[in-house]
Amino acid sequence: MDLTRRGFFTATGAAFAASMAFELSSQSSALAVEPASDWKLVNTEERTNVCCYCAGGCGSLCSVRDGELINVEGDPDHPVNKGGLCPKGASMFQLRNIVDPKTREVMKNPGRVTKPMVRRPGASEWEPITWDDAVAEIARKVKETRDATFVETEDGLTVNWTPGIASLGGSQQNSEEEYLITKMMRSLGVVAIDNQARV
Ligand code: SF4
Repeated sequence: MDLTRRGFFTATGAAFAASMAFELSSQSSALAVEPASDWKLVNTEERTNVCCYCAGGCGSLCSVRDGELINVEGDPDHPVNKGGLCPKGASMFQLRNIVDPKTREVMKNPGRVTKPMVRRPGASEWEPITWDDAVAEIARKVKETRDATFVETEDGLTVNWTPGIASLGGSQQNSEEEYLITKMMRSLGVVAIDNQARV
C-alpha cells in the first residue's frame, strides 16, 4: 500500500484521537476518578512533627483519623526540607504501622515501645515501669549523682560544676524545649550539654 505524506498524518491523527478518547473514558484505569470516600487522606487532621532519625531535623506532616496514624510525609512548609524526606525519614510511618508480610494489611508495629522501660543493674531483660515511677527514679538518681559529684572550687576558683551528668537532647525537641532543658542543666551545674539535632 502506498502511503502519502497527507495519508500518514491523517492515519496517525485518527489513532491519537482514538487513544485519547479511550484514556478519557471510564474504560481507562489511568484516568478513572475514585470516589472521595476512597481517598486515603479523607477526613484526616494534619499534625506537624520532626523526623526522629538524624540531626537534619526534617519536618513531617502526620495525617491522623480517629486517633490513628494514616500517613506521614514531608512538610512542604518546613524550612529544613521543604517537603522532602530521605528514604529513612520516608519510612517513619513504620515506627507505628507496618505491612503484615502475610496478609499485606497495615497493622500496628509489634516492636514499638509504648511505655517507659527500665533495665536494672545486672538484669538482661527490660521491664515496663510507670511514667510516675520513671520520673521519680530519674529525679532521685540526678539528685544523688549531683550531690556526689558537685565541685564548688578548683585551684581556688569557684566553678560550681557537675562532671557526673551529661545531657543529650533529641531531634524532636524544639528550640523552646531545648532552652528549658539547657536552663535546668545549667542550674544543676551540668556543662556537658549537646543535642542530636540543633533545630
Ligand atoms: S528525613 Fe532523613 S535527612 Fe531528614 S532528619 Fe530524617 S533521617 Fe535526617
